[in-house]
Amino acid sequence: MKKNYLLTPGPTPLPPEVMESLARPIIHHRTPQFLSIFKEVCVGLKYVFATKQDCFVFTSSGTGAMESTVVNLLSAGDTAICVNGGKFGERWGKLCQAYGVEPVIVDVEWGKAVDPKVIEEKLKNTKPAPKAVFTTLCETSTGVSTDIREIAKIVNKTDAVLVVDAVSGLGAVPCYTDEWQIDVVVSGSQKGLMIPPGLAFCTLNEKAWKLVEASKLPKFYYDYKKYKASLAKNDMPWTSAISLIVALNSAFKLLQQRGLENGFKYYEVLADSVRAAALALGLELFADASCRSNAVTSIKLPASVDGAKLVKIMRDDYGVAVAGGQEHLKGKIIRIAHMGYINEFEIVLCISCLERILSKMGHKIDLGVGVKAAQEVFIKNSL
Ligand code: PMP
Repeated sequence: MKKNYLLTPGPTPLPPEVMESLARPIIHHRTPQFLSIFKEVCVGLKYVFATKQDCFVFTSSGTGAMESTVVNLLSAGDTAICVNGGKFGERWGKLCQAYGVEPVIVDVEWGKAVDPKVIEEKLKNTKPAPKAVFTTLCETSTGVSTDIREIAKIVNKTDAVLVVDAVSGLGAVPCYTDEWQIDVVVSGSQKGLMIPPGLAFCTLNEKAWKLVEASKLPKFYYDYKKYKASLAKNDMPWTSAISLIVALNSAFKLLQQRGLENGFKYYEVLADSVRAAALALGLELFADASCRSNAVTSIKLPASVDGAKLVKIMRDDYGVAVAGGQEHLKGKIIRIAHMGYINEFEIVLCISCLERILSKMGHKIDLGVGVKAAQEVFIKNSL
C-alpha cells in the first residue's frame, strides 16, 4: 500500500469537493438543472480569465483550444509569429503549419523568455504583415514565465492579435485578459483550475472577432460563431462534458472563496520555497532568474544523477510524482508544480523525497537542508 502525491505540472491533484462532484449521478445537459450550473461556470470563467467577455468551453484537452484559435482567426497563406521557447511554444508553429499558415518562428533559448523587442521587430519587418502573435504564459517544459503584459502593449499598436496559451498557470499566476488587453486567451482544465483533463477554454475580444469574420480556414466543432450563438442562450452547441462542468463549478467556488489575488500570492510563496530548497541543496534552477514562473519550477540535476531514474524512483517507489525533462532536457531536469490543489506540506514532502533519492543515488547532500530552506520561506511569509 502506497500513498501517492501528484506534483506534476498537469494534471494536478483534485480537491475533495471536486472529487465529490465527479461522483454525482449524471444529469441531462439540456435541462434547467444543468444550465444553471453552466451559468455559474461561465461566471467563474470570467473570474479566472479576468474578463467581461464570453468564455467558450470545449470538450478537449488544452491543445484543442490552441487549435481553435488558428482555425477561427486565420486563413491559409496568412503569416503568424510563433514564440518558441519550449515544447508548447513549438506547438503553435506546428499548428500553423498544419493549416497552411506561414509561421514566423521566434526561437528562444530554453530557460529564457522572449524579449518583447524581438516581437516588435518581427511585427515591423515581416511581410505580409502577421495576423497573429502566438505566445505561452507559462512554458511548462522549462518553467519560464513570459512577459505577456509588455508583449500586449507592443501587439496592440499593430493590426495583429495576441494569442496567449494560458493552459499552464491560469488561476495560479496573473493573466489579466481585459486589463492587459490580451486579444485571445486559451486554457485547459487540468492545471491551475484543479479538475481532470478534458475541458479547454477560450476568450476573445472585439479585435479578434474581426479576424474571425475574415477567417477562411475550415472549422466545425470549434467554430466560435456556433459557441457565441449558443452562449447567447446560456447553452453550448454540443453535448457538454457534464461531470467535468459540474466539477469545474466546485473548483471555481474554491478559487473564488480564496480569491484570485490571494492564490497568486500563495503560489508565489510555494514557488519561492521550491527555489530556495533547490539552491540550498546546491542545485541550479533551470529557468533564468528574470523569468521564473510561479506555476512550475525546473531544477537542473547534477550530471552524475540519471534524472529519468530519479523521477521513476520518486514516483514508483515513494509515490511522489514530479515531471522530468522533455526533449534535450530528458534526464537533466525535474519539474515540480505549485499550482492547483498543492499545499506547503506537499512541497516539504516532495523536497524531502528529492533529498533522500539524491542521497541514495550517490549525490552528496546534507539531508534536511532543502526542507529547512523551504520551511523558512513558509515561516517568513506566514503560511
Ligand atoms: N500549453 C501548455 C503551456 C501546456 O503545459 C500544455 C500541457 N502540458 C499544453 C499547452 C497542452 O495541453 P493538453 O496537453 O491539455 O492538450
